[in-house]
Amino acid sequence: MNDDLKALIRTIPDFPKPGIQFRDITTLLLDPAGFATTIERMVAATVGPVDLVAGIEARGFLFAAALAMPLNAGVLLIRKDGKLPGATIAEDYALEYGEDRIVMHEDALVPGQRVLLVDDLIATGGTARAAVRLLRKAGAQLTQAQFVVDLPDLGGADALRAENIQVDSLVT
Ligand code: AMP
Repeated sequence: MNDDLKALIRTIPDFPKPGIQFRDITTLLLDPAGFATTIERMVAATVGPVDLVAGIEARGFLFAAALAMPLNAGVLLIRKDGKLPGATIAEDYALEYGEDRIVMHEDALVPGQRVLLVDDLIATGGTARAAVRLLRKAGAQLTQAQFVVDLPDLGGADALRAENIQVDSLVT
């Protein structure tokens, strides 16, 4: 069913380090019909009205921005630490080795606003779960997350579902 989009996503072996199969969506972005179809399907999968689409740096921004327009929503940026100019709130999460931190502007949303979380891909779910904690800490009403690609063997989508998030992805 999603083989048409899958064919537009390239796999680069051993990037960024040996053993990782990097699912590269830059080839999907280069294809006008493929990118448009991606956004149409994400719109169709969206449940209920959305006030803000939260995109995770950096590839998540592209899908969040394109999706926000047909949904008549704003775009909220979730970034790596040190990139946003205003006062931020932060959430740390574990990596395979060490920790990382994502941030958002503390005044980016009004508590109670309905937020849809978007990224290009979910693997272990560590990044998305940190984003959920961050957005909920800010008062977001967050019930759905969408990804272009899910790597289900890594369990990230199931971990998000355990936090009462509906998870939808176009390609597995
Ligand atoms: P995770 O926190 O493990 O779910 O990783 C998700 C984040 O890392 C997303 O922002 C992805 O863009 C990126 N990522 C993780 N694994 C891959 C992969 N195999 N191919 C492409 N991007 C990946």
